[in-house]
Amino acid sequence: MRRVTALFASATIALFLTSTTATAQGQRDTVDTSLPTQLPREAVPSHYAITVTPHADKLSFDGTVGIDLKVLRTTNSLTLNAADIAIRSARLTGAGTQMAPSGVKIDEDAQTAKLTFGRPIAPGDYKLSVAYTGKINTQANGLFALDYKNKEGKGARALFTQFEAADARRFVPSWDEPDYKATFDLTARVPSAWMAVSNMPATGSEEIGNGLKEVRFPTTPTMSSYLLFFAAGDLERISKRVGQHEVGIVTTRGNGEKARYALDAEAQILPYYDEYFGTPYPLPKLDNVAGPGQSQFFGAMENWGAIFTFEYALLNDPAITSESGRQGIFSTEAHEMAHQWFGDLVTMAWWDDLWLNEGFASWMENKTTQHFHPDWGADVDRVGSREGAMNLDALNSTHPVVQQVRTVEQANQAFDAISYQKGESVISMLENFASSDVWRDGIRRYIATHAYQNSRTTDLWAAQEAAGAKGLSIIATDFTTQPGIPLITVGPAQCVGGSTAVTLTQGQFSADRQQQTAASPLAWHVPIEASAGGAVAKAVTNGRTTQLSVPGCGPLMINPGQHGYYRTLYTPQQAAALAAQLPGASPVDQYGLIADSMALALAGYQPMQISLAFLAAMPPNGSAKVIQRVVGRWDDLYDRMDGDPAAQADIAARVVGAYGPRLQQLGFVPRDGEPAVDAILRTTLIGTLGKYRDPAVLAEGSRLFAAWKTNPDAIPGSLKSTWLGVIARNADAATWDAIHERARATTGSVERASLYQLLGRAKNEALARRALDLALTPEPGKTTSAGIITAVAGAHPRMAIDFVLSHLSQVNQLIDISGRSRFMQRLAASSRDPQLIPVLENYAQANLAASDRKPIQQAVDRIRSDSVQAQRIRSETAAWLKAHPAAAGAAGGRKGERG
Ligand SMILES: [Zn+2]
Repeated sequence: MRRVTALFASATIALFLTSTTATAQGQRDTVDTSLPTQLPREAVPSHYAITVTPHADKLSFDGTVGIDLKVLRTTNSLTLNAADIAIRSARLTGAGTQMAPSGVKIDEDAQTAKLTFGRPIAPGDYKLSVAYTGKINTQANGLFALDYKNKEGKGARALFTQFEAADARRFVPSWDEPDYKATFDLTARVPSAWMAVSNMPATGSEEIGNGLKEVRFPTTPTMSSYLLFFAAGDLERISKRVGQHEVGIVTTRGNGEKARYALDAEAQILPYYDEYFGTPYPLPKLDNVAGPGQSQFFGAMENWGAIFTFEYALLNDPAITSESGRQGIFSTEAHEMAHQWFGDLVTMAWWDDLWLNEGFASWMENKTTQHFHPDWGADVDRVGSREGAMNLDALNSTHPVVQQVRTVEQANQAFDAISYQKGESVISMLENFASSDVWRDGIRRYIATHAYQNSRTTDLWAAQEAAGAKGLSIIATDFTTQPGIPLITVGPAQCVGGSTAVTLTQGQFSADRQQQTAASPLAWHVPIEASAGGAVAKAVTNGRTTQLSVPGCGPLMINPGQHGYYRTLYTPQQAAALAAQLPGASPVDQYGLIADSMALALAGYQPMQISLAFLAAMPPNGSAKVIQRVVGRWDDLYDRMDGDPAAQADIAARVVGAYGPRLQQLGFVPRDGEPAVDAILRTTLIGTLGKYRDPAVLAEGSRLFAAWKTNPDAIPGSLKSTWLGVIARNADAATWDAIHERARATTGSVERASLYQLLGRAKNEALARRALDLALTPEPGKTTSAGIITAVAGAHPRMAIDFVLSHLSQVNQLIDISGRSRFMQRLAASSRDPQLIPVLENYAQANLAASDRKPIQQAVDRIRSDSVQAQRIRSETAAWLKAHPAAAGAAGGRKGERG
């Protein structure tokens, strides 16, 4: 699954396991009793034959299912998962008998149905047949409907499914846990004019009267229930052949051409993965199905053979898609396609190991992007992932990569920065430790050994050791079973015979428990790399201190290449020497040094002046990718200086002074053939300079807006969200009304949703309130409204949270069930107000089970740690700004002028 990121703002070697019959794939007739489960281990399914008849207009469906199963021990009852399903009839046949249950007990909390029989069922093979009715939801859980305007501008409805983590049970009564792998046949009765899509290509379709047809899909390979997929609607499909496979993109009718970019990416990536994983893609086709709308929980989902992706993340629409959006199409496909092996062919046995799916797919997405598009700066984004993970991992309420999941809600919450970004960062470190060839061989072994089965984290380490990655397991175990971040403190360095001798002391980095972690840090085996101008020195720490001899006597850099998952605290002299060298460092090290130093200063491990010297040392003509992030860092400081207008004006002047000329060079209009990183830097600079009310940017914005009011094409599509974002932020009532009017008139679902969400960006409080009120009306559409509220929370977090709390039951209807607890965490993300802490805590106590409050606790810990440091950060930053006037070239990085 691909997590929701900032919407509209800116992822043939050994075996040939192509058979798709259950027996050939080693169908189990036992269960692994060591796994956590919410079901009694009395039976195991091997095959489901499902027929579904949706009633899209009534938001309900009829279903029948025949489940082949093996009863493992004598029992009077069978318990399987079911949620929001009414069972009309059930029958168990086998062992020469046939019986109906004497009772059906639905447990809504446990999401189970227990069928009790009048006499004992002996161990053996049976078929359980169930007829039932279910609900079509309006958010992305189970079978759900997305409404949109079709090509002719008329209202239309299409149906899709979303089952991860635990929502297949809303579609079919089933053993809905990842280790109950089975095969699936699907038959769908849909309107004759519709297209139906599932994991396998349809093999037959016949008219059955009343304007309906019956579409049959052949048996899937053995797979987990959460990977089953079904969609139907007024759809079209474009496709091409790649070797033995067919790849396709399915869209609502009329959008096929916008899918070309995604189709080409899919065709490019598939052979690369066939080779990398060593086991060819095992299904006959791979579709990616685009759905209008959005979710607060996910952007795309890796259903086997039929990936689902929201349109904003898959379609390249010249009217609205930005360059970062286009890159996002490639990386989203790379992520979901990696899951076709890592997750679908080999599946984690239980949600404790969810990171195996998500950390790996995130890492593979980045690796694949770097491979095919080395000019996009994915290596710098890899550092961005590390920082995103560490922001959460530095808090007391973090959790280990491998964690204990015992409830459905905990499974939903596991889709977080630790599973994705820390998982990605740790794998990146381990690949670098093992070497990329050995690591790839280990992956091939792991896939071949566990294909069509379930695995645990330790299976991956065993495959890597077997491939030759000696010593990897102990490092991997330390980083995946313990929470938190190692802190490497660098002692004074000495030049001895042409090498740098230095002592490294290992501790633990924390944003909110510095004293406790200093007194009793966790310990890791950390693979350290260091350079001092010569060859890179390597060591694995084992204990509190490590002596290192690094070839060369230049400035000492720990973690060159930024593969390590740890923070590095230098002496002030070492830091100053590195800052002086920053302009000559590689982009990935430039950003790595700046981000690492800033995190240490914000948490109080060193004064702000040391990190500000790194930030100021970034040359204005440097890597576009790094400058994009450096501008973001300055802007974060700008927000932290809220209430100190002189300091804010100083920061704004520095950013405009240093990087305004870069924007002038780039120009306000995209140029044919320009580097993609330049196109993205242009949007960053327009957005940030617009926020600082730079006259040149505001004048161009006003000119474009005036033209756009009469001609929607007056702003280039790739810059539309950027320019309108600047305008919406500074909007007065007339401007807000004009954007609103255009949102109402727009039929393209991605552009329409984007315009509605812009209405939430207004800094003006009265307009922000109007946006909140609008979100509760039917006008924006069921999956757009939550995005408006999120947009309001950017500038007015307290207002948005108070509004949600006073309309909680209405707002909950606008969010996927699986995304609700994290929605509140997201609304709090831009707040540093300690007064919000009791509000959040009261919300959690009143609305979330004690086991499910982690996202709120994380929001609280983050606000608390920020507020503890706030006064020091502000005074140190203000002092540094005064001591390093911008006119003297502080932001331009004049060498030798650091605090
Ligand atoms: Zn994923």
